[in-house]
Amino acid sequence: MDAQIALPRLLLQGIGISKSKTAGPLRFFLPKEQAQGQKRVASASDPSSEWKRLQAALEEAQRRSDALLLQARERVGEQEAEIFRIHGMLLSDEDLLDAMRREIERGLAAEEALQSAIRDFSILLRQLEDPYLSARVADLEDIAEQVRSALCGTAEYTLSADTPPCILVADDLSPSQTVLLDRSKLLGFVTFRGSANSHTAILARAMGIPALVGIGRIDPRYDGAFALLNAATGSLSICPAEEEKHIFFKAQEQERQITRDTGDSLRRLLHQPALTASGHRILLYANIGDASEVDAALSEGAEGIGLLRSEFLYLGLQGYPSEETLFQAYAEVATRMQGKRTVIRTLDVGADKQIPYFGLPREENPALGFRAIRVCLARPALFKTQLRAILRASAGGRLAVMLPFVISPEEVAQSRQLLEECKRELEAEGKPFDGGIEFGIMIETPAAAILSRELAGTVDFFSIGTNDLLQYTLAADRQNPLLAELCDRNTEPILRLIEMSAKAIHEAGGWIGICGEMAADLRLTQRFADLGIDELSASPPALLALRAKIAECR
Ligand code: PEP
Ligand code: MG
Repeated sequence: MDAQIALPRLLLQGIGISKSKTAGPLRFFLPKEQAQGQKRVASASDPSSEWKRLQAALEEAQRRSDALLLQARERVGEQEAEIFRIHGMLLSDEDLLDAMRREIERGLAAEEALQSAIRDFSILLRQLEDPYLSARVADLEDIAEQVRSALCGTAEYTLSADTPPCILVADDLSPSQTVLLDRSKLLGFVTFRGSANSHTAILARAMGIPALVGIGRIDPRYDGAFALLNAATGSLSICPAEEEKHIFFKAQEQERQITRDTGDSLRRLLHQPALTASGHRILLYANIGDASEVDAALSEGAEGIGLLRSEFLYLGLQGYPSEETLFQAYAEVATRMQGKRTVIRTLDVGADKQIPYFGLPREENPALGFRAIRVCLARPALFKTQLRAILRASAGGRLAVMLPFVISPEEVAQSRQLLEECKRELEAEGKPFDGGIEFGIMIETPAAAILSRELAGTVDFFSIGTNDLLQYTLAADRQNPLLAELCDRNTEPILRLIEMSAKAIHEAGGWIGICGEMAADLRLTQRFADLGIDELSASPPALLALRAKIAECR
């Protein structure tokens, strides 16, 4: 700790997510590249100390795996937790340990011995041509990653019960890492990469967690150092002086007071319909990832759920969820929404939301590749499992199905056909469902916007996914922090596409909402009202301000 006190103060600038402030110790969560980078500095001069180093790392990885086993049992169930039991077994597998020791005796560094033994075992498993054993290759890679990370000597964010609340520092957090984080331990996030529209940022916003993305690399020696994070200004001050802390805490307290006061006055609007001065009614819905966010949505006045990102249910698991697991999850949302409309988006996997057990091909340009509806239509069994689960859950509430990433009427027709097939199956099985369940699509591609008129006749509703529509229209990767300002300055082409879609859809007697991050951008609310947008769906913490803004619109 003394060494950390001696580190100089550091002031860094990133992109702020959510407007609040937080203060606390930084905790580094090192990604793969950095863990591997450490390999180069490892010394292989003394096999016996090298072996001890590897043994200590194996024990550390074993402890982490045990902790994950307990956590997974609690959060996702016994069956899904099984994977961590297998990890524990692999970490103590005698043959694997012998192979590592032999490599060290040959003069390799611990990191190299680990990699070499894992590679040989993986080749062996693949050669056996047994699907169960082949699947263990991914487990081997997973445990190798944990051991590598332990070898770095840098604390990983383990989520163990004794982890004190901290500001998490990561190169980038994948959505699956993010959903596994224990939210009660997070004071805030800081990521070296990432952008305002990345899924990590979307999650942080939904959780109301102060976060900075795209801040650039931070020296790992600052692990454990005290920091002040100001998401409103996008700044992170590490090892601040006492005076700076004093000013920060005073400002934080004042802001809390203002938030309480404005919150109180805004709350008076909570149960009034969102109406513009000219009487245009806009439905205010919430975006959520699972049932645990329903209460927050309702208490912020959500009149429905405009987007349930169903892939978040898949991201937290180690293998495909069963129809029953999905059914339970959706039924819980349906019940808790007490008859309010809930739009469940079918799986949007791929691009920045990679799920290892899907085994999707490595692609040069994943955002332009095999993702979302393309994956579902290529794997009808996977798609039907989702559709059947949504249909079954629709017996207990007002659910709607929404397809992501559509580019053609054919995709809609094929999906509709599968939905009808699922209905027939459930009917034959005597399982109840809502026969008139609404069926809609997202407009996330310029193609869908251009074809709105044709598509309008094929579905019940539309929702604009501005995050993707923006990246595909401006040819600007939504994950790239270097392009954040460019995207912010160039919303006009997206607004024109929305205008075009709204006109075509309304003329066809249809209904159109917006569920991308732009929905919560108060600078655009008047424009959306002018276009006659029927619904805005945003993360729960954004809803009250949006309701107030609509009341101010002409
Ligand atoms: C969008 O693209 O605007 C959207 C809502 O979907 P996601 O952010 O999950 O890609
Ligand atoms: Mg999208």
